[in-house]
Amino acid sequence: MFARYAPLAALLLACAPQARPQPVMPPAPADSAPVVAASEAPAVVADKVEAKAPTPIADAFRADAERILKAGMEGGNAFAMLRRLTDHVGHRAAGSPGYTAAVAWATEHMKAVGLENVRTDGTQVKVWNRGQIAAEVLAPARHQLDVLALGNSPGTGPRGVTGDIVVVKDFEALDALGEAGVKGKIVLFNHAMPAYSGELGSGYGEASRYRTRGPARAAKLGASAVLVRSATARSLATPHTGVTLFEDKGKTAPAAAISLEGAELLSRLAEDGPVKLRLVLTASTGKTVAAPNVIGELRGREKPEEIVLLGAHLDSWDLGQGAHDDGAGCAIMLEAVGILKRMGLSPRRTIRVVLFSNEERGLDGSVQYGKDHAAELARHVGAIESDGGGFAPWGFSYEGKPEDPAFVRLSDFVTLFAPLGATRTMVGWSGSDLKSLEPGGVPRFAHVTDGATYFDIHHTAADTLDKVNPEHVQRNAAMVALFAWIVAELPVALGAPI
Ligand SMILES: [Zn+2]
Repeated sequence: MFARYAPLAALLLACAPQARPQPVMPPAPADSAPVVAASEAPAVVADKVEAKAPTPIADAFRADAERILKAGMEGGNAFAMLRRLTDHVGHRAAGSPGYTAAVAWATEHMKAVGLENVRTDGTQVKVWNRGQIAAEVLAPARHQLDVLALGNSPGTGPRGVTGDIVVVKDFEALDALGEAGVKGKIVLFNHAMPAYSGELGSGYGEASRYRTRGPARAAKLGASAVLVRSATARSLATPHTGVTLFEDKGKTAPAAAISLEGAELLSRLAEDGPVKLRLVLTASTGKTVAAPNVIGELRGREKPEEIVLLGAHLDSWDLGQGAHDDGAGCAIMLEAVGILKRMGLSPRRTIRVVLFSNEERGLDGSVQYGKDHAAELARHVGAIESDGGGFAPWGFSYEGKPEDPAFVRLSDFVTLFAPLGATRTMVGWSGSDLKSLEPGGVPRFAHVTDGATYFDIHHTAADTLDKVNPEHVQRNAAMVALFAWIVAELPVALGAPI
């Protein structure tokens, strides 16, 4: 299932930027992290952008932009929709009853905002049950550890695994130990994720590699179980789950995330001598069940066959409420269309909202969409995913080269997002669900928000609605509404040669 994505492991299942992208224009200011109110839009950044060459697209859409942003920022339904999803559906791992309820939520709200052709597809997923987990240091002293099973992990059996631990900071250290140093041991990957930086982003891409690939690599060397330091820079004894990937028919090992505090404790103890640990983990894989993508459209008035795709993922982890990841993205995409509909705007091209299934544990929804729509991928003129949380609007990331026409055009009209404080652009990633659009050469973007605190709660039980600012999520919807409108309305396709 993962074979087609194997070389792209760093892009898998991210829910966030995987690489530290390089800002292109304008550079993110050092103080870009703070949440800004609408009245505190970063005028300095906007001024820098406006000092650039002519802006024909911005000029052509200036009046539309003022109207759309005004309508979007005056208020709307983004937070109310998110509240229905988080509080009345709750978490929604693909294949769970929660996911089925989320499909009903999506269908109802797509119709409510005015989307047509609302439908589900044939995506199927393999169920994974988290089960119970406990981890305890037995020697040199007893310590209970804060751990969470990693998605797709097998279980240990009810008796658990008991063994000595071996601590490595990276893959080089693991390989240096080799089978002789790893076989029969419980391996801890203690790779620290750096603090968030406005310039460089989160460092999640590097840190999460140990979660996605570490257990398989340690299992290959004979590890009896694997612990991975949680992919976060800050912790209050909070483990962060996430997917781990095993090769088809390859060796597996029970795998769990451990809190930063636990990882540090084990590392200190290991410096002083042998450390014996017991891990009990009863996760299991179940049957394959239906877990569809939900799709709806605002049909284009002139070129309905050309598509602007707005994406987010409907599934979440089976913890907390998936409020930022990715409930906010779902609400933002629905409300973006709702804003345009309330204004009576009918786009030249079709705007299609796709709420993808099982981004977190297998990208099954993305793969299904790529298969089902293979014949029309080349008619997707642009795609944007919101999967970085519903924090204050920041700007756009583009998956491609700075000289690509789609990015050049974005750099022109991004000035229009100044009232939202969202005029930054960068070349880096787009969205993991958009990967299946790549064969069509579709210009792919990420809707980017202020990520300073995202990884404090990402993939934890604390990703709940109280962490979401209603004004931010509404402003993000206004941002996506304007982006979608421009891309759907441009006289030529966004990525057409200049
Ligand atoms: Zn996500």
